[in-house]
Amino acid sequence: MPEGADMPEQAVTSSPPDVVPWPAGAAARYAAKGYWEGRSLGSRLAEAARRTPEAICLVDGPVRLSHRELMARADGAAARMSGLGIGAGDRIVVQLPNRWEHVVVTVACFRLGAVPVWALPQHRHHELSGVVAHARAKALVVPGTLKGFDHQAMAHEIVAAVPGAEHVVVAGDDVAPGGLSLRELCAPAEDPEATAALLDKAAPDAAGVATFLLSGGTTGLPKLVARTHDDFAYMITRAAELCRFGPDTVYLAVLPLGHGFTNAGPGVLGALLAGGRVVIADSPAPEAAFAAIERERVTATSVVPAVVMRWLEHREENRDADLSSLRLLQAGAARLTPEAARRVAPVLGCTLQQVFGMAEGLLCLTRLDDPDEVVHHTQGRPISPDDEIRVVGADGEPVAPGEPGVLLARGPYTARSYYDSPATDARSFTEDGWYRTGDIVREGPGGNLVVTGREKDVVNRGGEKINAEEVEDFALRAGGVAHAAAVATPDPELGERVCLFVVPDGTREVALADVRAVMLAAGVAAFKLPERLLTIPSLPMTPIGKVDKKALRAEAVRRIGAGPLGGPA
Ligand code: AMP
Repeated sequence: MPEGADMPEQAVTSSPPDVVPWPAGAAARYAAKGYWEGRSLGSRLAEAARRTPEAICLVDGPVRLSHRELMARADGAAARMSGLGIGAGDRIVVQLPNRWEHVVVTVACFRLGAVPVWALPQHRHHELSGVVAHARAKALVVPGTLKGFDHQAMAHEIVAAVPGAEHVVVAGDDVAPGGLSLRELCAPAEDPEATAALLDKAAPDAAGVATFLLSGGTTGLPKLVARTHDDFAYMITRAAELCRFGPDTVYLAVLPLGHGFTNAGPGVLGALLAGGRVVIADSPAPEAAFAAIERERVTATSVVPAVVMRWLEHREENRDADLSSLRLLQAGAARLTPEAARRVAPVLGCTLQQVFGMAEGLLCLTRLDDPDEVVHHTQGRPISPDDEIRVVGADGEPVAPGEPGVLLARGPYTARSYYDSPATDARSFTEDGWYRTGDIVREGPGGNLVVTGREKDVVNRGGEKINAEEVEDFALRAGGVAHAAAVATPDPELGERVCLFVVPDGTREVALADVRAVMLAAGVAAFKLPERLLTIPSLPMTPIGKVDKKALRAEAVRRIGAGPLGGPA
């Protein structure tokens, strides 16, 4: 694969027209306050690497890369991408499991100004083709075969069908004709210094898009959040500061690298920017994760509440592993119960931090020196002094202090629109730039937020968001279904699972397997499949004629119980 010598002298990025930029006044304020530093993430990562070039910064099994080696590989990949005609502003969908190459490709994109779009390994044709098409991606990076599924074949189908998509890049040895080898792409640059100099000179515009994040509940019609280098870098470095990341940080990436939380909350990128080390794990199973913590002297990691529960249970029974290096456990993406929160410090021996964040921006953290009351019972407070939040009632007006309401957010790293989705923007962003999170919160003392519910129609299954309407649309395609409504049912392990109510049309009996088969045939990610089906003669309606999901959730609990979905219907 040739290295491209023709990298652009000048970056061509600026905020694309399809994204609503921050108003000039706000942008000037964020820059004046030093939040937006005007340097690309790629330049900042390269700079951090140059401070301690020989220190090991990326560990994945036997692979141990120093900062210098990581940058040589990332710069090599950036140059080769350039040679393939990929340049600043071009999007690359990255669907990889937790492997070191994920980090190399991401850093390479940031160096070049190409825009990585992180997808989950569980995504299938339905989601991934939607992401590639909507992002207008030029390339798709996939594993070969993973857990028995042929990602490579899927990627070729998608690239053949989506106009503008050109390249399939494949991890592993088995690269079919027409694909490119990720291993070759990620080889060190032949002349690292010269390549780095070229990339430094052509660094992308910091006001341009660094990444497109998938908003929670990604469907076949995904919502993409364009995050600029300036805003994303600010969020990451501010979070890293609050988490006290530094050169001695050893961050264990145990949640999927397809999530913003793992990469940027402060995550992998926060650790690298702080001159620290990232250890990649491919499973949150406690045995493997604890072994990695002991072996690599991990200091910080981030998990979802379902994983917190598994770790607590395992640790209570098994104290073999030495977890003494672990200082910080971040728990987020779904609500952690106060009971679980309370057990973290005594059982795991580390500080708990609750994290409430979203792809659109706003990131709330409990602080490391907060009293237990705050850490156990709240989801933290915004990280920036210039984050603005409002908690509003149904009339759009602020509620009385301490009352629950819908959370609106605005600030130096919260997007003002989705990418190229004006209809969704009209629902999700106010005219004066507030993002309507769809989360229902209560603001407690000290500005700490407690997430008490949500108005958006998603199911949060262990941190993975599932759009109810998408499941309902598929259910209607199964024979015998007149109406369908998907709701969350409480689950002790995952927090929530998908329960589907159907109103039969009388032509035939409807079984759970029928709906699941329709979804699987359509290439939908398996985590979205309903796990329970309940029939009902008609769907309850609210006075304004909407399906009454609250009543359905209560009905599901009444019929199934609040325990695991195994009980009698
Ligand atoms: P995503 O865009 O996938 O990161 O999903 C963001 C959404 O996840 C938020 O709007 C919340 O609904 C939910 N979420 C994230 N963190 C928490 C948390 N700590 N507690 C409750 N819900 C959360």
